[in-house]
Amino acid sequence: MHLIYGGTFDPVHNGHLRVAIELRERLGVDCIHLMPCHIPPHRGDPGGTSQDRLDLLNLSVTDEPGLRVDGRELTRGGPSYTADTLRQLRQELGTDRPVAVVLGTDAFSGFDRWEEWERIPELAHIILVRRPQAELSPGSVPESLLAERRVESVRELKARPGGGIYEIEPPMLEISATGVRERLEQGRSIRFLVPDAVVKEIQRRGLYAGEPGQ
Ligand code: ATP
Repeated sequence: MHLIYGGTFDPVHNGHLRVAIELRERLGVDCIHLMPCHIPPHRGDPGGTSQDRLDLLNLSVTDEPGLRVDGRELTRGGPSYTADTLRQLRQELGTDRPVAVVLGTDAFSGFDRWEEWERIPELAHIILVRRPQAELSPGSVPESLLAERRVESVRELKARPGGGIYEIEPPMLEISATGVRERLEQGRSIRFLVPDAVVKEIQRRGLYAGEPGQ
């Protein structure tokens, strides 16, 4: 099964990396593909360009063969529509190979507002990561989609190319990219929140630092 874990990764942190390993193990796949999405320029943070996000991600997975980086959404530019990405992947992998995208319940609760959302379950499975603070609204489109497509086992998931939704609740570390950026803006330490190699590279490039004098 080809497993994709998308996000802004602005920057990547140990919460992302740890949950990626948990998912890889629990879903019994050789590797999980971390896929950074494009961010529109008006949402950009000081210093964190797409190339920086991609370079830091690549650094974070060094020596961890179970984690790989797929930069296709950055290379493509423009908005990162999951349906486009999955169609592109299908051209490479063919129609029979199981493909799955990881989504948190926070993201999935607004799923029916995504571009071409109805195409997505036709192209891949969804691995729904439960976040206790983000339950699906009763009677909402995502909730009924889950009820229609729920798959109870990983074996069932791997038996077909897509169309299922599998719920999973892996342990998560209390780390957010927002918290990492805030610490950097305030000149505080981010050690043990992100891999050491990433800490060093952020410092070397002077990323996410507050304006001098602020
Ligand atoms: P921000 O604070 O900038 O919103 P973030 O830390 O939530 O960023 P994203 O890049 O937006 O990170 O998230 C990518 C994916 O990782 C999302 O599915 C998100 O739910 C998940 N994620 C974020 N932080 C954690 C964490 N600590 N543990 C597990 N998953 C996480």
